[in-house]
Amino acid sequence: MPPFEPVIGLEIHAQLLTTTKIFCGCSTRFGAEPNTALCPVCIGLPGALPVLNEAAVELAIRASLALGCDVHATSIFARKNYFYPDLPKGYQITQYDRPLATGGRVDVRRDRGSVSLRITRVHLEEDAGKSLHDGFPESDVVTRLDFNRSGVPLIEIVSEPDLRSPADAAAAFAAIREILVAIGANDGNMEEGSLRCDANVSVREGPDAPFGAKIEVKNLNSFRHVERALAFEIERQTTAIQRGDRLHRETRLWDPAAGVSRAMRSKEEADDYRYFPDPDLPPLTVAPEWIERIRVSMPELPRARRERFVREYALPEYDAEVLTQSGAVADYFERVARVSGNAKAASNWVMGDVLRKIKETRLADDAIPLKPESLAELIRALDQGTITGPIAKDVFEKMFASGRSAADIIASEGLARIADTSAIDAQVRAVLDANPSAVAEYRAGKTRTFGFLVGQVMKATGGRADPALVNDALRRALADSGGAVSD
Ligand SMILES: [Zn+2]
Repeated sequence: MPPFEPVIGLEIHAQLLTTTKIFCGCSTRFGAEPNTALCPVCIGLPGALPVLNEAAVELAIRASLALGCDVHATSIFARKNYFYPDLPKGYQITQYDRPLATGGRVDVRRDRGSVSLRITRVHLEEDAGKSLHDGFPESDVVTRLDFNRSGVPLIEIVSEPDLRSPADAAAAFAAIREILVAIGANDGNMEEGSLRCDANVSVREGPDAPFGAKIEVKNLNSFRHVERALAFEIERQTTAIQRGDRLHRETRLWDPAAGVSRAMRSKEEADDYRYFPDPDLPPLTVAPEWIERIRVSMPELPRARRERFVREYALPEYDAEVLTQSGAVADYFERVARVSGNAKAASNWVMGDVLRKIKETRLADDAIPLKPESLAELIRALDQGTITGPIAKDVFEKMFASGRSAADIIASEGLARIADTSAIDAQVRAVLDANPSAVAEYRAGKTRTFGFLVGQVMKATGGRADPALVNDALRRALADSGGAVSD
């Protein structure tokens, strides 16, 4: 039997970064005391009327444009009717047959090349509340409800089933997350639930075979979970088919701790929800001028920026990739590169020392205390030979900790490079005198000792001696003294 081919599509729910909910003025802040951000609208008390939040629409349009979709002049809010304890209204306001945007495309980078993922649609909807099952004394018999999330604005992004491996699916989720974060539509925080991914997966006997039964796997709140859950599902479905079982459409829940997916419910047909246009909300109309205004205000997307970094700064692709992981870091790098006039050095410092410091100090990417101009000054000092490489690392640490300028630290601590050859010669002689056995080893042909002697001279000068001059001076001294070291 030929190997089965997996067919995968994604459904991503992203919370829009508004301060208030989609149909009322309640706060969307994460972590508030349960049931403190509520009003009659978001818990659906009779007679309460929803009013659409313009900021949510604007962010949804930004996301749609960034995902390459056509934004429609008119879209319709519909009621999706179902009963669930976390949905006190008895329906969710969403968009159904007339979504905000359709027909997009995202390029997904892989280890080799890229794969194109078609975006079917982007629609606006409200989030439901949250059931709290654990962590209370009576949790075995009682479920508690927190409605703070009720009415938080979401977009749902639905893709075509274009993906063919768990790794591609994880990469696609990452690519979409990167875009949403870059345009400020979503904070990318999967742990707090502001970005969630469900995957539809089926297997078939080959690229030309009809699609198999679509299984939806929910609760994939990390790239790793996406990959593991899909690998598990593909294996499970393949085994079932080989055994002669018939698979049915269903929704399953991924249990990351156990590493298995479990049946949650058989999939309702679409008309089970009795969708109909919400009579409380007029059709959403979006003027073409508004879309245009948003289009011109869009920041450069990560992929375009990556390509520009390679082109404009002649950086290796790896550098461009690391530097564009965050918009703030990319901005910082560009400033350092422009002011220092040395893009590759700027890249090395930002990728290495700056990112390390951000990690160590748990700083936000946009709160780097070292000004890009200051780092550029340090790079120039190094390029002009004012200081040596080892000293530059030291000055960097001091600048980062104190906010003082490179020039100030170099001058006040006497860290300027020693380029005076007579001073270096004197240090070299002192080191040779102090290490007769190393000198003897060098003469006996153990040339590695040379590096040790260089190190001793650098140490004696506190790292300030010009390493190239030390090398020359040492070579000369060892040749001159021709076997006998002065004593
Ligand atoms: Zn409210």
